[in-house]
Amino acid sequence: MADLYTYENWSDTFPEFDSEDETKGALSALQWAYDTYGDSIIYASSFGIEGIVLIDLISKVKKDAEIVFLDTGVHFKETYEVIDAIKERFPDLRIRMKKPDLTLAEQAEKHGDELWKSQPNLCCQIRKIIPLRESLAPYDAWISGLRREQSESRANTNYFNKDEKFKKVKVCPLIHWSWKEVWRYVYKHDLPYNKLHDQGYPSIGCEPCTAPAYNVDDLRSGRWAGTQKVECGLHES
Ligand code: SF4
Repeated sequence: MADLYTYENWSDTFPEFDSEDETKGALSALQWAYDTYGDSIIYASSFGIEGIVLIDLISKVKKDAEIVFLDTGVHFKETYEVIDAIKERFPDLRIRMKKPDLTLAEQAEKHGDELWKSQPNLCCQIRKIIPLRESLAPYDAWISGLRREQSESRANTNYFNKDEKFKKVKVCPLIHWSWKEVWRYVYKHDLPYNKLHDQGYPSIGCEPCTAPAYNVDDLRSGRWAGTQKVECGLHES
């Protein structure tokens, strides 16, 4: 069955789901995705607030789902703390910490110190994009927590997307969720979350590239603040 729904055999026959139901179609999309891909699907999580919702929903469908975290080596300590809390709350999940080939010291030696300042795109390539490509290699599909309202570039995201960058099917169950709905779900289910969210950081990435966001209309404005960069490149084709 999965053959019909791979990147290589892409067709526009993916099912649609009721975006008005309790989880705005997310649970149905996940159920369908795990039924279809079996063990050939992985969730790449940053353990941000959308990630916490997704993990709870995924665990209802597949308790021992595989999750990969791109461990760049420069995350906030609060991010590692929430990963530990999630492991405790969902002990059956298989969470893998994927590190880049280059250590920070090796990267500094090869490309200069603080590459995130001098060449952030190269830094993201080394510490995020290549590790994600390696992580996704054995799978047909991956899950992402993108929401349509997050940015213009995400406004046309569907439940199932042809991911030209990684040549996979990208499953985005939360496309119809609003920021408020994400938080309502987290509070309702008393889920652990990154404490930096309470300190003005709506979107949390690597420490050197994440600042509090003061623009309520752009919750990602704290990412690479003061530069032209707005995405790490994981979701660009
Ligand atoms: Fe490097 Fe910053 Fe990208 Fe993290 S977000 S990989 S530190 S440039």
